[in-house]
Amino acid sequence: MLKKFCTALATAFVLTACITSPTGRSQLILLPDSQVDQMGLQAFETLKRDKPISTNARYNQVANCIAGNITQSTGGRWEVVVFEDDSFNAFALPGNKIGVYTGLFNLVANQDQLAAVIGHEIGHVLAKHSAERASQELAVNSGMSILQAMTNPQSQMGQAAFGMLGLGAEYGVLMPYGRTQESEADIIGVDLMARAGFDPRQSINLWQRMDQATQGQQTAEFMSTHPSHATRIRDLEQHMPQAMGLFQQAQATGRRPQCQ
Ligand SMILES: [Zn+2]
Repeated sequence: MLKKFCTALATAFVLTACITSPTGRSQLILLPDSQVDQMGLQAFETLKRDKPISTNARYNQVANCIAGNITQSTGGRWEVVVFEDDSFNAFALPGNKIGVYTGLFNLVANQDQLAAVIGHEIGHVLAKHSAERASQELAVNSGMSILQAMTNPQSQMGQAAFGMLGLGAEYGVLMPYGRTQESEADIIGVDLMARAGFDPRQSINLWQRMDQATQGQQTAEFMSTHPSHATRIRDLEQHMPQAMGLFQQAQATGRRPQCQ
């Protein structure tokens, strides 16, 4: 269905691209990478300007160490910033930006649990979830006429479309992802952490801990919305044999990060 839709759009518009996510899912992406990266960079700059940044040396060291180990397999230069905020939250943005909230350090029991969160967030970026979300908005709200609207930037719809292309914090950061994207980020994230030599079983411990700490309230992005903690844990358990294989491989090649 999506494939057909993609083909129709691709035929109609040069800008359209249908790609396959890291887990093999067909995605509709209407925005070029460069544009989405620009959105991420802009949002991150705004956050750094408006939100207090932690100077806690240990937090910064640990966050950078974990992100550094995980992104060895993804490549690219990633910037990591620890923000002063008591909520159990973290995010990653297109353009290779990672934000970790100080509250998370009070929740996690070890480096591997923090690696599970950071891996999950990087998973969203690698799977282009921001671009996909913005593209769905474009497709759902405006259908086929979106590109037509863009030839007329003065129109209401044209302005909306351009706003979407140039937007900052409203779009890139705080909107919750859907269930499919959350599950996908979970799987990509747990493989990433395992490949870096972090114990993937700790991802399950993290969700249990999160469940207890929030007592069913799901507010932060990475525990957002649709998949319940129980569903996530079940899916992670199902995927664990594969992740353990990657973990053992990493350990065998001497990848034993010491970030705490
Ligand atoms: Zn997420």
